[in-house]
Amino acid sequence: MAERLTLELATPARLVVSAEVDEVVVPGSQGYFGVLPGHAPLLATLGIGEVTYRVGRDEYHVAASGGFAEVRNDKVIILADVAETPADIDRARAERARDRAEGRLAGRAASQEEIDYTRAMCALARALTRIQVASRGQ
Ligand code: ATP
Repeated sequence: MAERLTLELATPARLVVSAEVDEVVVPGSQGYFGVLPGHAPLLATLGIGEVTYRVGRDEYHVAASGGFAEVRNDKVIILADVAETPADIDRARAERARDRAEGRLAGRAASQEEIDYTRAMCALARALTRIQVASRGQ
């Protein structure tokens, strides 16, 4: 069993993380799951949340949304629709997005389409994840 994992986290636009790590926690669409060296092969869709990876005692956080993760041969490949490190995140923009989404949810009329609610909930989840990742720093 390899002692470390190789993590590659990319979006269609760029490579966000390429590192040898000890552990990765992935925001799967069915919930968070952890990956350690020796993990069984796995293919999962991503939800909205924080990818956390640990190198020794240091933890790093990346906000991610949509896409998929594959675990195979001690390699974790995460292809996210969008992803930002703490340094990438414009916190004021995320706070505006959060306020917009909360306003939509609060003003939601009962007759509105379910899709509006789902969209607002997803926008809120993205914004809250960004605020959390930004507040953690690197
Ligand atoms: P907004 O309403 O502020 O655009 P959003 O959640 O709708 O937020 P996304 O569709 O998830 O935005 O992302 C579109 C692009 O903008 C992506 O490249 C994403 O990385 C970037 N992005 C979104 N919000 C932020 C932010 N607060 N800081 C930095 N980049 C961001």
